[in-house]
Amino acid sequence: MACYSIFDLEGDVEAVPATLVEAVATGWWYMSMMPRDRILLGFFTDSDLLPARLRNDMNLWADMASQTSAVSARLTSLGIDLAVCAQLQFAPASTVTMSKLIDHRIVRAGDAASALDPLGANGLATALWSGIQAAESATGLLAQDDTALRQYERQFLEGIASYLVTQSAIYASEHRFPDAPFWRRRNGASLERI
Ligand SMILES: Cc1cc2nc3c(=O)[nH]c(=O)nc-3n(C[C@H](O)[C@H](O)[C@H](O)COP(=O)(O)OP(=O)(O)OC[C@H]3O[C@@H](n4cnc5c(N)ncnc54)[C@H](O)[C@@H]3O)c2cc1C
Repeated sequence: MACYSIFDLEGDVEAVPATLVEAVATGWWYMSMMPRDRILLGFFTDSDLLPARLRNDMNLWADMASQTSAVSARLTSLGIDLAVCAQLQFAPASTVTMSKLIDHRIVRAGDAASALDPLGANGLATALWSGIQAAESATGLLAQDDTALRQYERQFLEGIASYLVTQSAIYASEHRFPDAPFWRRRNGASLERI
């Protein structure tokens, strides 16, 4: 799951438009620029590893971030103080793929077809490609031809299978926390697939 806050940057702050990822023993941090001079700070972990009082304790959120190196340096340089952050939000962040892209008159594409772990940075490319494929499938269906539709569904699911292999390799490449439950659950073992 993800816990995250979104911050408005002060007018005179110029942030490098780069995404920052930092692994820690209990998961990984993610900082990304958003439209309209906002920045998202997220922490990705398993729900059972999150401290229960985090929801109401911004000092704990600030303390967790202060134990990072790259993320905490960037927060400082951007003038962001997590202890006074208004709200911490929580969202499911698992990799979830619909087993059927086609459901009667619905053809799924993008995030509606598959929610991908942000570590893979594959959401936009998948959304653009699958959006075009879904449109071509719909055009075919109007001419009573489902060839494009069937090919799209097969290629999409093959792409997700290959993405899961890459995702496993990314997690397995982190070797610093062999005893930490978050990494032990991922290293070497196959990822939980839904
Ligand atoms: C903070 C953040 C950082 C990200 N960084 C990356 C990255 O670096 N690389 C990457 O590849 N991906 C990234 N992603 C993921 C990527 O943005 C998504 O995977 C991608 O945008 C999905 O595209 P989509 O068209 O399926 O859905 P969306 O982009 O969510 O588009 C759906 C649209 O439908 C509209 N909508 C919803 N309901 C209705 C309705 N009932 N009627 C009409 N319109 C409706 C929504 O307003 C929205 O505009 C990031 C996501 C977030 C949140």
